[in-house]
Amino acid sequence: MAQRKEQYLVIGGSGFVGRHIVQQLLDRGDSVSVFDIVQRYHDVPFYSGDITDETQIADALKKSGTTCIIHTASPPAGLNDSALYFKVNVDGTKAVIAAAIATGVRKLVFTSSAGVVFNGDDIVNIDERVPFPEVPMDAYNESKAKAEDAVLAANGKNGLLTVALRPAGIFGPGDRQVMSGLYQVYERGQTHFQIGDNTNLFDWTYVGNVARAHLLAADKLDAPPPSPPLSTLETPPRTLQE
Ligand code: NAD
Repeated sequence: MAQRKEQYLVIGGSGFVGRHIVQQLLDRGDSVSVFDIVQRYHDVPFYSGDITDETQIADALKKSGTTCIIHTASPPAGLNDSALYFKVNVDGTKAVIAAAIATGVRKLVFTSSAGVVFNGDDIVNIDERVPFPEVPMDAYNESKAKAEDAVLAANGKNGLLTVALRPAGIFGPGDRQVMSGLYQVYERGQTHFQIGDNTNLFDWTYVGNVARAHLLAADKLDAPPPSPPLSTLETPPRTLQE
């Protein structure tokens, strides 16, 4: 129970995943604030701001006394707007990192995406040693990969400890993307399509488990690194199973 004195700031805490993280922190008695461009809940201190503005983030960090940032903010996947993805996910995440370093925040947990290693080909049984594809899938995934790189490169700067998580598809209460998308497909009568040979697999994770992974990652950032370090292990091929 070492984390009780932590002060959390959930960036994107008005969103689907962010709200579940806030709720789980509250449920275990932790102190949490939210930073977001929209306010949907009123039960925790809220800082209205945009992560592309470093001053707004730094102000919120100082006022809230944040020791641990959980950064879940991103535009939704599937937009035809690469400029927005790079502005928010790359520049915005760099602004979060700079503000965290400047204000002496100890921990930064970043919500990346499983899509950062996807290039359209099947990938089976891979782990985090697999490199980003040379040709990214799209602007969303490319911007998430660059943000993840920046977060991991910031590890150790002014005592900041960082980690990035890569959820796949997320389902559960509060979802505004997956079920509405499936319903729109149903309404349009587009239910007769088959993808590939109908044996394709896709990973889905319940949102409560994704949120719990963020709490565990934050807790474990204090712990010593695993041994041996992943970087000393052989890099596996992109597909381990045909
Ligand atoms: P969401 O849209 O429900 O929540 C994102 C939140 O970020 C929103 O409240 C939004 O207002 C906020 N936000 C967006 N731009 C911002 C900005 N410039 N400044 C401050 N706040 C901003 O999305 P979600 O489904 O909860 O996704 C959370 C994270 O998980 C994202 O980083 C996403 O890339 C990642 N992810 C989601 C899925 C999924 O299936 N939903 C899968 C893999 C990864």
